[in-house]
Amino acid sequence: MNSPVETLFNLIDHTAEILEEELDCTYLEAIAETGENLFHEDILQPELSEVTKKRLKKQYVELNFESYTSEDIRKGLQLAILKGMKQNIQSNHQMTPDSIGIFMSYLVGKFLVNKDKFTLLDPAVGTGNLITTILNQLPFKKVSSVGVEIDDLLLKLAYVGANLQKHPIELFNQDSLDPLFIDPVDAVVCDLPIGYYPNDVRALDYQLCAEKGHTFAHHLFIEQSVKHTKPGGYLFFIIPNGLFESEQSNKLHPFLKEHANIQAIIQLPESLFRNENSAKSILVLQKQEPELKAPREILLAKLPSLSNQTAMENMMNQMNAWFNENK
Ligand code: SAM
Repeated sequence: MNSPVETLFNLIDHTAEILEEELDCTYLEAIAETGENLFHEDILQPELSEVTKKRLKKQYVELNFESYTSEDIRKGLQLAILKGMKQNIQSNHQMTPDSIGIFMSYLVGKFLVNKDKFTLLDPAVGTGNLITTILNQLPFKKVSSVGVEIDDLLLKLAYVGANLQKHPIELFNQDSLDPLFIDPVDAVVCDLPIGYYPNDVRALDYQLCAEKGHTFAHHLFIEQSVKHTKPGGYLFFIIPNGLFESEQSNKLHPFLKEHANIQAIIQLPESLFRNENSAKSILVLQKQEPELKAPREILLAKLPSLSNQTAMENMMNQMNAWFNENK
């Protein structure tokens, strides 16, 4: 018998394949269409033949969608999106994998342990996989969340996923480095898009603008995120390992010193990445506010392979000890 996630994936996959063919669209677009149908409990594509409508309806009804948890739905969708992304997607647009999302959720839960209610922003929300992983892992918190994404198809997938998982995320389709009409938040999470930002004129608005040539988008994302965080709020970034040693890092160091306290830098296991050069870490900052003290020591860690249970348990014990000492 199939697991709930497999059953959901099969339904999304089969119905998306039908829609892909009949609508002559991409598989990723078809996932968004089938997600909309599931959510509205209707067939929303008037151009489909009656026979196709009936075939789809039969599959949707047989599924009994209401019986699935939000995590099952996220995982089922994630598998379908991964399949679609294999066909054509730039590496920088890739979804944040589960293992990283779950670890980020642990950190968000730990740093915001005293807040039952908070606001959360993901300025590179992509498919919404990271933000919904976090929302699903923190079911007892009341979180008002906002996502921003430049790519309209990814944003549509985020919107469909949020609807199906019943998360009322406010979503904006725009360049996050343009002005954002979003009130300062308690926390930011972001799997940073890494590379050069092509808009040199917009980059001039930022303290971290490069002296010459294009600026690193990931630096500008950090600055924009700090700007949109409340004093004392936390920021959780997935960063390239070389962030602090790059040729543009000379401005980043004083910027962080002026605006934030570094709380943690945690290297993710290399096995999660294609090679050493694409390996990443998690950087946690707290935005400065008067009287706020920096942690006695920064949490510096290198996560073992996630499949090594004993080493992972050891690491979690060490991290919990850091939280007891510093938070
Ligand atoms: N966390 C996301 C998820 O789970 O799907 C994946 C984030 S992905 C590593 C980075 C995202 O940043 C991509 O979806 C990309 O389209 C988006 N992006 C890149 N430049 C952007 C910009 N200037 N404004 C808004 N989004 C941008």
